Amino acid sequence: MTDTHDIGILLAAQLTGRDAGHVVELPGTSLRVHRAVLAPFLALQAAAARDGLVLKPVSAFRDFDRQRTIWNDKWRGQRPLLGRDGRPLDASRLSADALVESVLIWSALPGASRHHWGTDLDVIDAAAVPEGYAVQLTADEFALRGPFARLDAWLARHAGDHGFYRPYAVDRGGVQPEPWHISHVATSSRALDALSVDLLAEALRDAGLEGQEAVLARLPELHARYVRNVEPAPAVSPPSRLS
Ligand SMILES: [Zn+2]
Repeated sequence: MTDTHDIGILLAAQLTGRDAGHVVELPGTSLRVHRAVLAPFLALQAAAARDGLVLKPVSAFRDFDRQRTIWNDKWRGQRPLLGRDGRPLDASRLSADALVESVLIWSALPGASRHHWGTDLDVIDAAAVPEGYAVQLTADEFALRGPFARLDAWLARHAGDHGFYRPYAVDRGGVQPEPWHISHVATSSRALDALSVDLLAEALRDAGLEGQEAVLARLPELHARYVRNVEPAPAVSPPSRLS
């Protein structure tokens, strides 16, 4: 059974967010990361602190159920659905195919979110905003005049020093640019290679996903465009031990 098959670094169920055996708590937060990512992330945080930034994770591991709730809410019009230009769309007026594309602009397909792996985090610079600031994670916040412009520049220069990079740095025609989304290269590269179309299909079958048929009918294309279509991972020296 694939669910219990070990793929080297993550079980199939862990790759698709249905098992959380690979993640550990980030001290002082309610967030969890892959156990191999904890030390590198703390090192990245410490380096940022030395340069006057407070690298604060606002999201890390998310499970399949959480991603399915987001997906289904958008599909049913119970959560704002935005187009590529950021304007609201009316879910009830879209075909199933158009709806699939619209949800995928801003939200990952359940089972295919890099946040399932615990290798990826969304971060802000808490030193750059007042306490109680409502984080939006928008391009404007990371643009030149935004509060996180300095973080953006710092990550571009230093994320690689600690084995991280930004897979959604630019618009590649799939997921919108997400300058706040960082990924631990050594761990996530292996997860990405292991997440095949077949494995994803298995996770999505009978999983209570709205639009399941429309998704499964074109899964190879969606996998290519939204899962594989990220910035190529930079070369890093492999860590001595990953798990
Ligand atoms: Zn993210």
